[in-house]
Amino acid sequence: LAAFLLYMLYLVEPIGVVFQAFSSMQQGAGALRRIREVLDLPGEGEEKGKGDGAAPGASSRASVNGAAPLLEFRNVHFGYRADEPVLRGVSFAVPRRGQVALVGRSGAGKSTVFALAERFYDPDSGAVLFGGQDVRGLARDAHRARIGFVEQHSPVLHGTLRENLLYAAPEADERELRRAVELAQLGEVVSRLPRGLETHTGEQGAALSGGERQRVAIARALLARPELLLLDEPTAHLDAENEAALRAVIRETARRCALLVIAHRISTVREADLIVVLDAGRVTHAGSHDELLVTSASYRALAPG
Ligand code: ADP
Ligand code: MG
Repeated sequence: LAAFLLYMLYLVEPIGVVFQAFSSMQQGAGALRRIREVLDLPGEGEEKGKGDGAAPGASSRASVNGAAPLLEFRNVHFGYRADEPVLRGVSFAVPRRGQVALVGRSGAGKSTVFALAERFYDPDSGAVLFGGQDVRGLARDAHRARIGFVEQHSPVLHGTLRENLLYAAPEADERELRRAVELAQLGEVVSRLPRGLETHTGEQGAALSGGERQRVAIARALLARPELLLLDEPTAHLDAENEAALRAVIRETARRCALLVIAHRISTVREADLIVVLDAGRVTHAGSHDELLVTSASYRALAPG
């Protein structure tokens, strides 16, 4: 009994220590939850985020149940040089499915938003979140592997069309390849080429138009199964056919993953779920096409076709 009492005393005496231990257990639980979030996110997002997308502005805590937006900018300030702010308090969110368009005049900061989303730079203040996680806490390569990027002037590489498409996903099978070709509205292009997918891109008669090259780049990016596709639309005019094809590709893509597109023409963004107008590093307006036609002069100033 004496030993027992002594043991009780031993337990009771350092009560502060017990409290400390308790609070560090809570911290431990928090850390464990965060680890779980990181590990669970992709799968959880696909299952529970299906169809319902997440409301822009949902809190990062929602990532526990997969409801956080896929990408969120939270009051992001950034400059390439300390004395030249480029983004001045940018906030917006991209749900797990659907399309968000970024518009604004040249120099507004659109491409910079992409660079921060991919974490080529970190914000000076504010935060970029991916699946509710501050991207600064995510492994850079793993983070980038979840994002597909189609540049403004996407190069078609040396080699066959098949090699071009499989570049980022060499393990993709024939079925996936065919589906990507269809999704990117390249079926007719492939059948027009002298040797289909086996045609060398430098070959006579294999010339691709700007719009077709862009869709090759989109198919290439989609084959790697990104959760988010960043698409920087070229300013160049697309003919009606290529424009319709691009619209179809965007629509289909937005059913499979989140899409953030930098657009220069109203025709590209008309169907977007959310259009964010960036002006001199600030979000001046955000809304649907119909809303922005009324509220935003810089939106109305976009090229119509
Ligand atoms: P947008 O894509 O809307 O045309 P950018 O994001 O490319 O705008 O550029 C925003 C501003 O940041 C511009 O003033 C541009 O000159 C500047 N900028 C862009 N990239 C760099 C860089 N790598 N280094 C320094 N300044 C840059
Ligand atoms: Mg740009």
